[in-house]
Amino acid sequence: MTDYDSVSADVEDEEEIPADHPRYQDLLTRHRIERGVEKGITHLQGMHAEGRGSAFDYLLGEETIPSADAAERAAAAHLLLADRPVLSINGNVAALVPGEMAELADATGADLEVNLFNRTPERIEAIADHLRDHGADDVKGLEADARIPNLDHQRAKVDADGIYAADVVLVPLEDGDRAEALDEMDKTEIVIDLNPLSRSPQVADVPIVDNIIRAVPNMTDHARELADADEATLRAIIEDFDRERALEDAEKRIRSGDL
Ligand code: ATP
Repeated sequence: MTDYDSVSADVEDEEEIPADHPRYQDLLTRHRIERGVEKGITHLQGMHAEGRGSAFDYLLGEETIPSADAAERAAAAHLLLADRPVLSINGNVAALVPGEMAELADATGADLEVNLFNRTPERIEAIADHLRDHGADDVKGLEADARIPNLDHQRAKVDADGIYAADVVLVPLEDGDRAEALDEMDKTEIVIDLNPLSRSPQVADVPIVDNIIRAVPNMTDHARELADADEATLRAIIEDFDRERALEDAEKRIRSGDL
């Protein structure tokens, strides 16, 4: 056993995880989800979702593949062109990238909205506080005064002036039913999901097959770089992006990539 193998699951602080560990990103995401569960912002089932994602990330080589980078650039262009862009936050997203989502919102003029599969008022409040602690100005999702059609009552709840009215919505790590229901509302849907075969990326206008801890900062970099671009340039980036090819590229990499 090497020293690396001895990095335990219960490190107190993420600074204790050696940055040169061959599975650094995996250890970091696991640690952040554990802290999220302890703080009451992530449901225990979030650990299972993370485990699933971790297996796909291992097969992708834990890197942003070129087609994912193209998807992240197209997603940034969509958010910049949108009239009412909204970034949806669930318990895993809040645990993994709270400050990074606040930065993306700032770079694109988007709103942040808490939207939970296992919804309780306590978790919504805890996540909103956690986002504010990480730099978010305004957090939606507390009103829950509108419903997504064709979903059961609890999972359908959204803010009337948030996701319900959004023209472009980013839904990372979203379950397939809700992604499909949002798709039927004719919104431009951007999904971040490490499994290209999952229903959520399959219905997305822009499927991003990448770890959220890499995808969100990269989208922010693209958005900042494109901040002064004119509408024609942003539309050309969107036109050039091929969603089918992005899904195929990711699946090919997962099935046959070198490790
Ligand atoms: P569906 O309902 O769409 O068929 P599912 O049941 O697999 O999908 P969930 O388990 O609800 O979906 O959601 C977890 C999804 O998020 C998985 O597809 C997993 O690969 C992905 N995921 C988990 N962690 C990450 C991460 N850090 N970055 C990106 N994607 C992730």
